[in-house]
Amino acid sequence: MKKETENSVQVGRLKFISHSRNIWEETPEEDWNNWMWQQSKRVKTLQACEKVINLSEGEVKAFKESADKFNVGITPYYASLMDKDDVNCPIRQQSVPQVGELLTFPEDMADPLNEEGDMPTPCITHRYPDRVLFYVTHNCPVYCRHCTRKRKVADPSSATMTKQLEDAFLYIEAHPEIRDIVISGGDPLSLSDKKLDMILTRLRSIPHIEIFRLGTRNLVTLPQRVTDEFCEMLKKHQPVYVNTHFNHPKECTYEAYIACKKLADAGCVIGNQTVLLKGVNDDPKIMMELNHKLLAMRVRPYYIYQCDLSEGISHFRTSIEDGINIIEHLRGHTSGLANPTFVVDAPGGGGKIPLLPEYLVKKEGRKYTLRNYENKEFVYTEPELK
Ligand SMILES: *Cc1c(COP(=O)(O)O)cnc(C)c1O
Ligand code: SF4
Repeated sequence: MKKETENSVQVGRLKFISHSRNIWEETPEEDWNNWMWQQSKRVKTLQACEKVINLSEGEVKAFKESADKFNVGITPYYASLMDKDDVNCPIRQQSVPQVGELLTFPEDMADPLNEEGDMPTPCITHRYPDRVLFYVTHNCPVYCRHCTRKRKVADPSSATMTKQLEDAFLYIEAHPEIRDIVISGGDPLSLSDKKLDMILTRLRSIPHIEIFRLGTRNLVTLPQRVTDEFCEMLKKHQPVYVNTHFNHPKECTYEAYIACKKLADAGCVIGNQTVLLKGVNDDPKIMMELNHKLLAMRVRPYYIYQCDLSEGISHFRTSIEDGINIIEHLRGHTSGLANPTFVVDAPGGGGKIPLLPEYLVKKEGRKYTLRNYENKEFVYTEPELK
């Protein structure tokens, strides 16, 4: 069953609704739906945030003491999803500073994935044989409290220059083994359509490039960014993959639904990369609901990341066992399509390493004893090899 109204859609038992807008209730529709307006009205200060929600003592302290370390920025749209009183609101935890950010541990690292070590030129990380990360901006509409690149995002001194972009194009051109470009940042959708069009046109002109992926959280934090003009522009550059970053079912609103629909209708294949966050989504039920909602939005769950060892995010880290446990609760219990791969992005630049529950009970000669999702054991006998 599918039911649509002016500001909601229901797919089966899943509902995607437009939420009330808190202090922006009187904002004219055309402003609210304009991404430039959303960008310009971002909540950045303690004073502005106090008008939207009732801040806890901890949040006030974290706001004051983390100000010089990590930027704050929350679009009115994303801020309107926050619970006014509940500090544990998943939207709030991801966007309002928390006291946990003030702690540092010996295992914390400034660049845990050694992205800078694998940088042949300032905007490129080349770690895997056939694909690269390409950083095109350091800005994002919302600065996520759990960001791996916390140190870098919004730092004006690290803005991507035209010269650096050009060096990146030259690097990609000179390396015919590169066939896949992950366009990242910051959030590439912070750039204008014109600039993105220029970048994609240039990349498409390189003979060995097959696909690009846009790594963007705008579908979650600023869905208004996905305009008809933007989608028309992308159509020229297909195949284009979009990798987004939903972490909680509460983020799957009607606005997000429409943004995903537009991109999917424009021919983009959308994947989701969730970060496993303590108190936000470290619960198999929440992950299952999130993944069901994503599939109804035509977004395929791709990865669940174990939280990195970046500074100031220790309060979000779960055990690795928690991640494996989530996979245990998904595999077999729900559509294979709702099963992302759980990965640890290895500290020091080892890349993504997948982890699974153990399904091999024992191996005796040609006999494999396997267990299924219900913990029932089955024996598979391999053919005799000649
Ligand atoms: C994640 C990542 C990629 C893309 O990896 P896939 O497994 O292909 O999605 C490429 N380069 C770097 C440096 C990465 O961290
Ligand atoms: S959108 Fe991505 S890059 Fe930007 S702050 Fe959030 S996690 Fe970091």
